[in-house]
Amino acid sequence: MTTGESQPAPTRADAHTTGGPGERVAGDTPVHRAEDPASLLVDRACCPLCGSDERAAWRVVHAFRDIPVVRCGRDGCGMMFSSRVAGPEAQHLYYVENFGSTFHQRGQRINASVNLRALARMPVLVTRGGGGVVRVLDVGTGYGYLPWLLGRRGGGGGGLRCVGVEVSSQEVRFARERLGVEVREGLMGTAGLEPGSFDVGACFEVIEHVDRPVEFARELAGFVRPGGWVLVNTDNFGAPAVRRMGPEYPKWIPHSHINHFDPGTLAECLRRAGLRVEGLWSYTNWETRLRIARMLGRSPRGARECFDLRGTLRTEMRRGLALYRLRLALSVAWVGLTLRRHRVIEGQPDAPEAGSMMFMLARRPEGHGV
Ligand SMILES: [Zn+2]
Repeated sequence: MTTGESQPAPTRADAHTTGGPGERVAGDTPVHRAEDPASLLVDRACCPLCGSDERAAWRVVHAFRDIPVVRCGRDGCGMMFSSRVAGPEAQHLYYVENFGSTFHQRGQRINASVNLRALARMPVLVTRGGGGVVRVLDVGTGYGYLPWLLGRRGGGGGGLRCVGVEVSSQEVRFARERLGVEVREGLMGTAGLEPGSFDVGACFEVIEHVDRPVEFARELAGFVRPGGWVLVNTDNFGAPAVRRMGPEYPKWIPHSHINHFDPGTLAECLRRAGLRVEGLWSYTNWETRLRIARMLGRSPRGARECFDLRGTLRTEMRRGLALYRLRLALSVAWVGLTLRRHRVIEGQPDAPEAGSMMFMLARRPEGHGV
């Protein structure tokens, strides 16, 4: 998918259905039922960061079945990405029509609390002088948990208004009716948002899903006032913890996560979108630490054992999440204890040791357009 005019923005969120009469059951689309889902894939035409179509410069990082992850070697680009992606129709079915499970919903609820804890460390929720209303845009808001939590928290010294954008009508309905938050249904570009009207434009675990991340970031920046902030949260696939796990790192789901950033490539993406990178925070979550500990004493698995497209599609929307309340409490405490700020020197992050989850903060320059 792209996040331009013609295709849906990705969603972290799902269409968590109840399976009532006439409703689809989560994970029950032609994509999930396809006998040969690999036939729905198309080759990626160009590097999502530098735009090069020089496939000879792409080196395989992990040879996952059906979807090898490659690194672009063109002029030191270094971007890692899935070399095959679903075609537009399959993406629409996957994300818009029916994406979700208890796992997704509970995971989003936990992530919203973690993200709020991280946001509180950044200089984004206060206005100059401490008064007024901070206007936040959350693209790919899913069930709307982050706007809901932000609304309860309020701004620093003033008010806070958070607007979510989401393509899934069922999620939008949940956010509005159950949480009472303001969510626009549709794409960022067609949701009736006024350009330049937000102080903060944020996207949490979204940019790894989009076909064209530079264009996505530029579009998001366009809804932020000059001098305002853009915050991008995504996995750091260059983190020591991720390298240690190799292809076993669980966020390698190359049919869904199609861009695999590290601090350098994410900063370059935001620079190409016309933004100035000003801050980087990261941490490695406790589940990853635990998984690494559990790998000790056995031989590591190869890429071909770690991902199977057909099997993943058949089970991913039927997963639950055990020990939800314990996970929520532990995750929030953990990020509070382990989140670190890294140095950024003239827009360049200096963070070879950054954790597996990163938050990059950039600013829209004053006085001229993006
Ligand atoms: Zn490239």
